[in-house]
Amino acid sequence: MDFNWCHGPSCHKKSTIDRIRGSKGSKVLRTRKINQSNDYIRNSVWSVFCSQTCYTDFFYKYWQQVIAIAPRREALETPIDDPKKITNQYGWERTEIVKR
Ligand SMILES: [Zn+2]
Repeated sequence: MDFNWCHGPSCHKKSTIDRIRGSKGSKVLRTRKINQSNDYIRNSVWSVFCSQTCYTDFFYKYWQQVIAIAPRREALETPIDDPKKITNQYGWERTEIVKR
């Protein structure tokens, strides 16, 4: 079967019964395997992270290296039409922003 190990730096420290491996007297908590059985998993971050927590733990540990891959040195801009004020049937006003 095709699988990846979760890349969460603390995946193997989370106390859940599905992580318990080993024989009596020498039990461990083991990093989760992630089954690569479908395209959604294979083509997403969920191919290498078992949970939102592991994904976040990885980013908190390695954020400097991650940002170094594609540093943002100036602001990006999206052109828009001139904003319009729109009042709904209850009198609430909102600003409509239309991207060009
Ligand atoms: Zn994990």
